[in-house]
Amino acid sequence: MNRIPISKPIIGDEEKAAVMAVLDSGMLVQGGRVHALEDLFAQLIGVRHAVAVSSGTAALQLALQAHGIGPGDEVITSPFSFVATANSIISVGATPVFADVDEETFNLDPTRVEELIGPKTKALMPVHLYGQPCDMDRLTGLASSHGLAIIEDSAQAVGARFGGRAVGSFGTGTFSLYATKNLISAEGGVLTTDDDAVADRVRLLRNHGMRERYSYESLGLNYRMTDVHAAIAVAQFDRLHELTLTRQANAKRLSAGITAVQVPAVSPNRDHVWHQYTIRVGKRDRDECVRKLNETGVGTGIFYPQALSDIPHVRAATKGTINVPIAESLAKEVISLPVHPSLSDDDLAQIIDAVNRL
Ligand SMILES: *Cc1c(COP(=O)(O)O)cnc(C)c1O
Repeated sequence: MNRIPISKPIIGDEEKAAVMAVLDSGMLVQGGRVHALEDLFAQLIGVRHAVAVSSGTAALQLALQAHGIGPGDEVITSPFSFVATANSIISVGATPVFADVDEETFNLDPTRVEELIGPKTKALMPVHLYGQPCDMDRLTGLASSHGLAIIEDSAQAVGARFGGRAVGSFGTGTFSLYATKNLISAEGGVLTTDDDAVADRVRLLRNHGMRERYSYESLGLNYRMTDVHAAIAVAQFDRLHELTLTRQANAKRLSAGITAVQVPAVSPNRDHVWHQYTIRVGKRDRDECVRKLNETGVGTGIFYPQALSDIPHVRAATKGTINVPIAESLAKEVISLPVHPSLSDDDLAQIIDAVNRL
């Protein structure tokens, strides 16, 4: 039987040669490859600064710290995301406040966000889930009228655009280069911003608060990226656009063929980069659906099996009542299907056939 994995890292000869070149150079950390990656990112996102760090989680945490967010502050975010989104907020001592998501796009609902803005709110942290941009018109409108920072969790959305403008450029953006993401370095993250002070602060914080050798301006830790990792992402950068086009074509094909369940909705004005292609099984038994798909060789993923506010340590860090019924029902109903660029025509036909037999 043809087994189709839910994701597949693309590592070709270029990536291998780039890693070997770094190893031969002896310049292993925060050298030429890291700078090259930062330049490529700044260009792609259309911002003045890109700062490479050790992971997407580190990028989120440093973004919050650079914006001066800490104990007593509230950050409004999505309850339907990877745990790193909430953990970053908790890690700086701030309080995550969960606004429910939109039924169609599974992204933060700006109307719910607005209801939760209060005197302690310091930032909005939209998550461009599965590679689809949030409603950045309304969210940036809310942020500017209430004087809030925007920290975009763009981990899943490298290259995605809202109204022609790249996500990660609407405030401070964070990206992940983890092994399953659309652009990879194995582990790694990048922070993007037009704000000189935020970029400067993050550069200090990632390297022991050190501006010049052994001169420490502040507390800082080690969140540096290695050149070994940066080299992988740099080698892949040239192909990112083509890989994204393939993801988009795969998603189009799946949506044209799948009739048995609800296929993903794409809102107008968005360039979705299809990190995940996620169906909603409604009243069907999800475990049974997953079992049937896996039996026919179709790999699946559940992103995510619970609302963040239902994770005990996250719940303990929240305040008051939490009202996120849409996120809670999505957590029971979603299944992600393979959409990665390595799928063949036959793979796509096999996925469509398996889903239509559910
Ligand atoms: C992957 C991911 C992160 C964390 O990135 P890491 O590089 O794994 O630390 C954060 N938020 C979202 C939405 C993610 O998908």
